[in-house]
Amino acid sequence: MSADRYDILFEPVVIGPKTAPNRFWQTPHASGFGTEYPDMQAAYRGTKAQGGWGVVFTEATSVAPETDKGPYVLGRLWDEGDVRNSRRIVERIHAGGALAGVELEYHASMSVAAEGRLPAYAVDPVAGEGALPVAYAGTAATIHLSDIARIQGLHVQAALRAVDAGYDLITLHCGHAASLISHFLIPYYNTRTDAYGGSFENRARFARETLTKVRAAVGDRAAVGMRFGVDTLDGPLGLGDRGMRHDGEAPRVLQYLDDVVDYWDLIIGGVDWGQDAQSSRTARENHEARFTGGMKRYTTKPVVNVGRLNSPDTMVKVIRSGQADFVGAARAGISDPFLPAKIRDGAIEDIRECIGCNMCVSRANLANGRIVCTQNPTIGEEFRRAWHPEFFETAGNRDRSVLVVGAGPAGLECAMVLGKRGFDMVHLVDAAGEVGGSLNWITRLPGRQEWRHLVEYRQHQLSKLKNVTTILGTRLSADDILDYGAEIVVIATGSHYAADVVSPYDRRPLPLGESFRGNVLTPEEVMSGKASIGERVLVWDTDGYFVGPGVAEHLAGLGHQVTAVTPASVFGAYLHETMEDARTTEDLRALGVRIYPSSALTPAGADTITIETLAGPVDAGIDTVVVVGQRVADSALHRELHDRSAEWEEASLRSVYRIGDSVRPSFIADAVFSGHRLAREIDSPDPDEPQPYIRERRLLNATEADFTLTGPAQSREV
Ligand code: SF4
Repeated sequence: MSADRYDILFEPVVIGPKTAPNRFWQTPHASGFGTEYPDMQAAYRGTKAQGGWGVVFTEATSVAPETDKGPYVLGRLWDEGDVRNSRRIVERIHAGGALAGVELEYHASMSVAAEGRLPAYAVDPVAGEGALPVAYAGTAATIHLSDIARIQGLHVQAALRAVDAGYDLITLHCGHAASLISHFLIPYYNTRTDAYGGSFENRARFARETLTKVRAAVGDRAAVGMRFGVDTLDGPLGLGDRGMRHDGEAPRVLQYLDDVVDYWDLIIGGVDWGQDAQSSRTARENHEARFTGGMKRYTTKPVVNVGRLNSPDTMVKVIRSGQADFVGAARAGISDPFLPAKIRDGAIEDIRECIGCNMCVSRANLANGRIVCTQNPTIGEEFRRAWHPEFFETAGNRDRSVLVVGAGPAGLECAMVLGKRGFDMVHLVDAAGEVGGSLNWITRLPGRQEWRHLVEYRQHQLSKLKNVTTILGTRLSADDILDYGAEIVVIATGSHYAADVVSPYDRRPLPLGESFRGNVLTPEEVMSGKASIGERVLVWDTDGYFVGPGVAEHLAGLGHQVTAVTPASVFGAYLHETMEDARTTEDLRALGVRIYPSSALTPAGADTITIETLAGPVDAGIDTVVVVGQRVADSALHRELHDRSAEWEEASLRSVYRIGDSVRPSFIADAVFSGHRLAREIDSPDPDEPQPYIRERRLLNATEADFTLTGPAQSREV
């Protein structure tokens, strides 16, 4: 039973003609499945419903081919085929006991419509005639008065298809300054002078009419609400005073439209939705409350709030304080689909808390990218690999003793899953004095402290698994392992940054020259706190993610003069995908870090390096160079054990596997996945060889059996 203090989270809430079983609202978010991969989508959302989310939405869903966000794979409700696929998704959500929601969107002028190659329609009569400076989206056609009823009709038709599919909640998207409704509302976009522009009532007319028509069409079959961005934030990241402001027109919008909605889902931010989905580098729990928190007084309808709501105590505060009626979350439910069930069952310490890394967000930003999660390797694998986040089958070879060497992200995950699969004896051994591997220095980088939850969650799980023993401060050689007596050995020794590898950009070593007398350090050496670091530091980055900017920020924060140079066009380019780039650059500039993208280095003396920038050479006095270059797999132990395979039988050793960075250095999410995959498939005929997964795709003459793990279409037999 839930502890009393969380009971308020489990109260049912009436939403128009529907009733949510509790206050957990999984907000719309991209998965890469859309309606094109209905089984993947159904299993993904259905697992969250099973985990206790009272309301489970799918994702932004296009109302018509002219407003398609392709090549991104998102929802579509264009025709009977989409309805058919959506029915399966809704059925799975309902089977878990949740209300099913869909977010309808006419994606305004940024519609790429890559599939149908049709023109989208835009609000602004100037931008719409061809002057819209959105290179990747092309331009849009102007909405004339005669177009309005047709476009509102597209919303109505999509809403009718939604109820036909069984959806309980229909949200019209008016957030992230992305949809037509929001463009009509916001003066930044709407410069019309007709009945749909100018005054507040004119700008709100399209929203009011569309909501009224949709509500009249669906009747009591679904609740209709609006996802409303109450503040499009300050420039340059936001729209400034020409945008929507929480202390400006937003309260008026709620009051004016309150009688034509059944609920409000409130968010912040503009087209750069990374301000809404900020990572843990910049946003703490409930970071949107200063914008959305005061809005409930302007409405009589249930209100959803979001903003990194992770801890049950914060959730209770959000409800008790009157801030909102629903706890809205995407990432908290990606990281732990069973979060509500764990709160209900008093298993708070078992919650796999989101670390706010935005790896999931990054995949949504890569067209056709499938959802992944650093904390939860089962996400997106519910259907195609039949992995469940909480249930583990007892392993067929559980009586074999297992030694996992290395307690970083991959080793921790592997040992934990092996323990949950019931192995009699698992030893997890690490040379360091603490578990965590690379995360022990990574979490000392500015803003990365919350990534520690990845280690803490697994530590706690291991502490409950009496069949897993963790042994620290013990470096094992190949001789030690052969003497250990384990029948299965898993090598998880990670990787390290090398200072002397070739650049992936020009295939040459770093050209510092013979005469350079400064230090050359790796990120690990810098973060060890033991290295001697000169006053003037150059960070050379070909890694392209958070480590280069993180080291620069760390050293600049300590008072070093930092110059960052990369041959890439952007310093820490992948931060663009995690939507952390703008604020990272802002913070580095504030610390005085000079950034030179698209640049090379030329040796120029004992303490001088010439930076060959696009604008010409710049001489920089440098005492220390930090090379954030390629990582090298620490695979020597694995190789030596295989070289000595003739000794295995005598040592009772049957198999030696390798996981994580020791196979190939990659994202932390990939290391965790690798450890999980091996543990899930440890009793397969050859665990080194990943098991086939169901490939969901159009198949000629298909039957349902083709979409099972053992179905004929998935067979690899030749
Ligand atoms: Fe949270 Fe990172 Fe998982 Fe996204 S990928 S849900 S931010 S832990």
